[in-house]
Amino acid sequence: MALRTIESLGDLKGKTVIVRCDLNVPMKDGEITDDGRIRASVPTINALTDAGARVAVISHLGRPKGAPDAQFSLAAAATRLGELLGADVSFAEDTVGPSATSTVEALRDGQVAVLENLRFNAGETAKEDSARSAFAQQLAGLADAYVSDGFGVVHRKQASVYELAGLLPSAAGLLIAAELDVLDRLTERPEKPYTVVLGGSKVSDKLGVIGHLLPRVDTLLIGGGMMFTFLAAQGHRVGASLLETDQIETVRGYLAEAERLGVSIEIPTDVVVASRFGADAEHAVTSAESFESTPWREHGIGLDIGPDTARRFAEVIRSSATVFWNGPMGVFEFPAFEAGTRAVAQALTEVDGLSVVGGGDSAAAVRALGFEDGQFGHISTGGGASLEFLEGKCLPGLEVLGWEA
Ligand code: ADP
Ligand code: MG
Repeated sequence: MALRTIESLGDLKGKTVIVRCDLNVPMKDGEITDDGRIRASVPTINALTDAGARVAVISHLGRPKGAPDAQFSLAAAATRLGELLGADVSFAEDTVGPSATSTVEALRDGQVAVLENLRFNAGETAKEDSARSAFAQQLAGLADAYVSDGFGVVHRKQASVYELAGLLPSAAGLLIAAELDVLDRLTERPEKPYTVVLGGSKVSDKLGVIGHLLPRVDTLLIGGGMMFTFLAAQGHRVGASLLETDQIETVRGYLAEAERLGVSIEIPTDVVVASRFGADAEHAVTSAESFESTPWREHGIGLDIGPDTARRFAEVIRSSATVFWNGPMGVFEFPAFEAGTRAVAQALTEVDGLSVVGGGDSAAAVRALGFEDGQFGHISTGGGASLEFLEGKCLPGLEVLGWEA
């Protein structure tokens, strides 16, 4: 672990430092519903302002399509950041345009500005290296040094994460250092039994990691949207649930591999099925084997793990020494479908050992369900990033900061 630290940047007094944070918070009707990622960005920003730096914060929010889109503005996040810092935070209405230039030029030592959403610029996530480099050049033109602290994006080869680091003196911020500290404990001889719990909706993204995790874990618990691909792989019908048919063969391969390795993959035996996707949908618990026996037959959609499964998962989690959880067990945003996620979260708080929650929505879920951050060993700001790290992959955004996997 040879991550370059902020100290390696030398005296920062009067220097303009561009900081890649992850302010990608969940929003509803223009309001921030969980400010965890903004709070997690504060220590690094404070460290830089304390050192007398002029701080320009950059981040993405949501998935705008490479052009300005008001619903994805970072303005609300900038306001919240100002409240948390207890300081005025100025806001630029573009990322590298005239507003950004004048806002950054107006900064005095110890002051902070937030620039508008990186993804309003097509160069940020462009496939062509040249387009990303060109955008990174524009960002680099704003500052004297670069600090990378958006842990949630370090697995992405994007202009503000990867190319920018090569254009300025660069270092990792305190959040990345803290995240890696915990994740290292999960990869270097984790205490056994080691359980990984997977759920959520980014099914194809997450299915890919299972192959890499199998040799490392004792038990894998599968809930959320990906459970249906597993149920289908076992020959069950799953109605109108989230299903990746092209992944069924892959999943069959994982099940066989798990058996060979003596790893237990646990799949829901009961499911909460709804008449449609909605907070007030009618719903019923059914056994996974007779999914289409509900009144909604093949139109039924599975939105949570059932109560028997939740109990079984909770028992496995409680008796583990190390647990990593990524992805809600169901559509916890609707109270009718939150029970599975709540049971898993509750069990994690009872682990006698290390419990880690990873993922933006998973972190938001535990807070929305009334749990306190302190009840878990660690709440990671990055879902995909932490999973890829646990797979043992070299993450581009860490590699450019001197990290060796
Ligand atoms: P994270 O951000 O923690 O990595 P994801 O982004 O993969 O998690 O997924 C979170 C979303 O998954 C939540 O909004 C939740 O509503 C959704 N989800 C969970 N279970 C299901 C399901 N059975 N069907 C559809 N969506 C689901
Ligand atoms: Mg998510």
